Amino acid sequence: MSANTTVVTSILDQLSSLGHKKVVFCNDPDTGLKAIIAVHDTTLGPALGGTRMWSYATEAEALEDVLRLSRGMTYKAAITGLNLGGGTAVIIGDSRKGKSEAMMRSYGRFIKNLNGEFITAEDVGTTMRDMEYIRMETSHVTGVPESIGGAGDPSPVSAKGVYLGIKACVKEVFGTDVLAGRSVVVQGIGSVGEHLVELLRNDNVEVFVSDINEERLQYVAKKYKAKAVEADRVFGLDVDIYAPCALGATVNDSTIPKMKFAIIAGSANNQLANEQTHGQLLLEKNILFAPDYLINAGGLINCYSELTGYGKKRTMQLTENIYEATRNVIKLSKAENIPTIRAANRIAEQRIIDIKKIKSSF
Ligand code: NAD
Repeated sequence: MSANTTVVTSILDQLSSLGHKKVVFCNDPDTGLKAIIAVHDTTLGPALGGTRMWSYATEAEALEDVLRLSRGMTYKAAITGLNLGGGTAVIIGDSRKGKSEAMMRSYGRFIKNLNGEFITAEDVGTTMRDMEYIRMETSHVTGVPESIGGAGDPSPVSAKGVYLGIKACVKEVFGTDVLAGRSVVVQGIGSVGEHLVELLRNDNVEVFVSDINEERLQYVAKKYKAKAVEADRVFGLDVDIYAPCALGATVNDSTIPKMKFAIIAGSANNQLANEQTHGQLLLEKNILFAPDYLINAGGLINCYSELTGYGKKRTMQLTENIYEATRNVIKLSKAENIPTIRAANRIAEQRIIDIKKIKSSF
């Protein structure tokens, strides 16, 4: 067997183990486009997910990221009750230097060739403008400006979902979902983080903020009367809630031992470095973890609204469901003494199984 055959075999093994339906490798030398589109599952509907542009060190790293993110989208749509499957795409490159209209339109043509099986939106490194370029080639894109029929910036909706997830957890731990008097550290005060800080401060929560961007840190701290803390102090802070709103994998072997939090609930995707071991560790440490893909689903709900023609009111109604959905996950986790992430996965998987049965019986 040649070396190339071995690589293909191992990619297909990865797809099988994570349950992916299809992966498309896009290569356009004319525009410099190198992208990977992963369609994880389409039982519930077309696979919807963001397009991330990132300077991956290796193609293997890009593949790993797209496989992990697309699987997460399947679970997010399923548990949120949306008729969507899960998918994600990554473009390999530096979004500040390597992007062009031609590249985004070339990428749009690859999406077009999937005939609606994959629909995209913004993610890290891509903007509303990029979605407009993709829209010039295919209608299978969301997250375009309101002026051309889009649902606009999803981050306030995402922040609202996270806020409701926090309330559901606070109800569980403190017996009431009144947030006044509680303390939260928000790590990463970008688009979602800042909206979350605003919601929490409106409820008289004591808020600590941290960001690697010092200018932004001082600006948000001053605007909302929050306390700025250095990045390396976040995990040892004596506050009720840790809200990760920057990067994934911040809940890991080195950070968990430092934690005195009662609750972890934030917007970042894939917060647990290892779903199984770290979910279990948090359960043993009695730290309540709000599954990220459940409480950060506001952005996906916003995209779904764009596809279905829902207005703002319906978008917010669907987002309000996150409170009850989080309560249900906690209930199952307690009843079975399993980590909340496992409880959430079980609920999401069950919905997919149930709908698959209906589809095959007609
Ligand atoms: P953003 O880029 O606007 O903000 C991220 C912020 O985190 C920036 O201010 C950045 O300086 C800061 N940051 C980066 N590394 C940090 C670190 N190590 N410590 C502290 N701060 C750090 O992104 P966003 O749109 O606000 O999204 C935040 C997170 O939520 C991302 O993980 C994103 O994938 C996830 N998410 C966002 C949405 C949405 O609607 N925007 C929806 C679902 C999930």
